[in-house]
Amino acid sequence: MVNQTDKPINKILINFHPDLKIESAIFNTNSESKKIDQEVTEISLHKPLQPGETANLDFKISYHWSAVNGHDSFNSIIENGSFMRISRYFPTFGYQANNEIEDEEKRAKFKLGKQSELKKLEAPEVFKKDFITLDMTVSTEKNQTAVGTGDLVQQYIKNNRNYFRYKAENIPFRFAVSSAKYQTKTTVYKGVTINIFYHEKHSENVNHLIENAKITLDYCIQNFGKYPFKTVNFAEVSSFTKGFAATAYPSSIFMTEDMLFHANIHADKDQDVINELAGHELSHLWWGNSGIDPDDREGAVMLTETLAMYTEMMLYKKMHGKEKMMERIKVHQQIFDNEKGLSQNQPLYKVTGENTHISYSKGAIIMVKLSELIGENKVNTALRSFLLHNQYPKKPTSLDLLKEFYKVGPNEAVNRKIDILFKSE
Ligand SMILES: [Zn+2]
Repeated sequence: MVNQTDKPINKILINFHPDLKIESAIFNTNSESKKIDQEVTEISLHKPLQPGETANLDFKISYHWSAVNGHDSFNSIIENGSFMRISRYFPTFGYQANNEIEDEEKRAKFKLGKQSELKKLEAPEVFKKDFITLDMTVSTEKNQTAVGTGDLVQQYIKNNRNYFRYKAENIPFRFAVSSAKYQTKTTVYKGVTINIFYHEKHSENVNHLIENAKITLDYCIQNFGKYPFKTVNFAEVSSFTKGFAATAYPSSIFMTEDMLFHANIHADKDQDVINELAGHELSHLWWGNSGIDPDDREGAVMLTETLAMYTEMMLYKKMHGKEKMMERIKVHQQIFDNEKGLSQNQPLYKVTGENTHISYSKGAIIMVKLSELIGENKVNTALRSFLLHNQYPKKPTSLDLLKEFYKVGPNEAVNRKIDILFKSE
């Protein structure tokens, strides 16, 4: 850890995840060591950490199911097909607004003030040096393969266990791991290695997935820029893992068995789940949170989910034609209409995380409308320029993206229409 502020730090708040047991944790500076054994610990340093000075945290945490914590479906450790979003369980530093009590009565009872609000979209722009170089070594049972985050750089057997070392440079603090008795299928496409890790009985969609990955790579590389890794891994994880059908991490995409690998894609001719998921997830490696890392404020999800939905739609159009894509858009219109009465309405450019009917569904609708207003090529020119101008350490906002759309807009009248699309509720 580095003190990136311009002031000495003499107090540090460290938070461990409540579901994990701290086996050991020691915070070390150049001159002192502090032992940590509480979930939330405030450390006071005798000798403050000076600007630019480093410290380190050496910790060991463990996790197992128990009657008290139950089975955390976001974090399935099972015999075959485990998946952990491990970075979510790493310690965090400083005040955690996410942990605030939401219940107004409880807040009053504890004499707490107003809950922290999400940062306003118009707040000053942010540059933050918080990307990491990930060097991750995972060991698993001898008959299993561990899929990590980043490119595989080393593999060996030690003490009868399989070891895998993954590396990724300049990525947001997000990493996950899966482990299973995997079958693998590997294809090299235009210099990128595509690996599919799947259950031996779920091979039916593997070729379709590879074809989709190729089409997505082609579209994204051509329109948005270079693919940032050497490999793309698609790994099947257990259907115990709930809450998502697929999720993208730098160079690795994890997909659940029932939603994808073992899904019957011929059952519904009007829907191609592989295309929706593969295209969507793979495109996240250009968008947030991989290629860019949006600032945590109003509108942030427009730079992650809305852009992935746009890519998904354009790929759908490319593969199945415009008419079929418009049928998908109709479905998203229905999802949006069903949900909009139930929660607070927001314009897309200020959408917040919980309103997925806006960021995904309305986002897809608006981006397709935009592609009709100014043309798919111009939208892609704007997106490429957006990526170029908002690289790390910049934390872009939805206003940065709107600026790029205005730049490619042919005239003032069209730009006013763009404004209405993104800014009206
Ligand atoms: Zn997504």
